[in-house]
Amino acid sequence: MTSPADIYPWLSEHWSFFIQRFKSDRLAHALMIEGPADSGKLALADAMVGKLLCTQDQGQERACGQCRSCQLRIGGAHPDYFHIHPEEDSKVIKVDQVRALISKLDLTTSVSTRKVAYIHPAESMNGAAANALLKSLEEPAGITVLILVSHDPGRLPITIRSRCQTISVTQPDTQLVLDWLAKSSGKSSEQVSAALQAAGGSPLRAAHYLDSPQLDAYGQVREGLANLLARPASVSMLCSKLNELNPVELWRWLSTCTGELIKSRMAGLPLSWLPDNIQLQNKALLELQRQADINRKLSATTVRGDLLLQEWLIRWAEQIL
Ligand SMILES: [Zn+2]
Repeated sequence: MTSPADIYPWLSEHWSFFIQRFKSDRLAHALMIEGPADSGKLALADAMVGKLLCTQDQGQERACGQCRSCQLRIGGAHPDYFHIHPEEDSKVIKVDQVRALISKLDLTTSVSTRKVAYIHPAESMNGAAANALLKSLEEPAGITVLILVSHDPGRLPITIRSRCQTISVTQPDTQLVLDWLAKSSGKSSEQVSAALQAAGGSPLRAAHYLDSPQLDAYGQVREGLANLLARPASVSMLCSKLNELNPVELWRWLSTCTGELIKSRMAGLPLSWLPDNIQLQNKALLELQRQADINRKLSATTVRGDLLLQEWLIRWAEQIL
């Protein structure tokens, strides 16, 4: 089987850390894998689960994929593995789910030498669920490893976080990701670079964009913003075109485009999608980016998205000196 570091090169240090701890028997019984969404941390957690459950340990750095334990895990029916996540129609992990987990962890193992629980997203545990888990984090039953995965660890109680060994997957080096995207997709450097920008630096989201029509949509947003500066009167036309896009994605892109523009102006570097003779006000750009981030959150509510967009685009068009 492959390790996550074979697939995602930016995870090689995290994987080495885990393997070294595992081999020297210094692995904590509770691990917290934290990092932004689409950074590969789920693949990392899955590989750790595999390695922890595999019974064919001859010093290799990954699960064998062949032993009975690996086969049961791959088939989704491993008796020593428990995956806790919000149940259907719920956004939270409830206390009953955690209590049920704890009672199962108390039983002896059936196939592997240890039990593994995987809690994701950990921050969706409600207060009672987190409290119930605390005791297991302090005094785990038998040989147990708890893997908590979170993209928003700040929402977890400090009592939970302080009892876990943390593995942080941070935003990887841009060049490393660009090389990986180019190699894995076979696309041009312009395309992979646009995809990574559209994805706000997130490697797996960028890979998804390269495989979907969304990259064209991002191109339309850039083009629309550039055109608007040349023809401010075309706001309503652009507004109805952009209204067809997923609003969360759209506001993220508007914020990204504005951010790129701010950075390029500060560094005195040209931007591929905007003529560099256009004079813009940095203060207005900062405010537009801030508003785009606010509107992204508002777009999940019942607020009239078309009005927000129209107002934002008018302000964008008006910012020329
Ligand atoms: Zn195995």
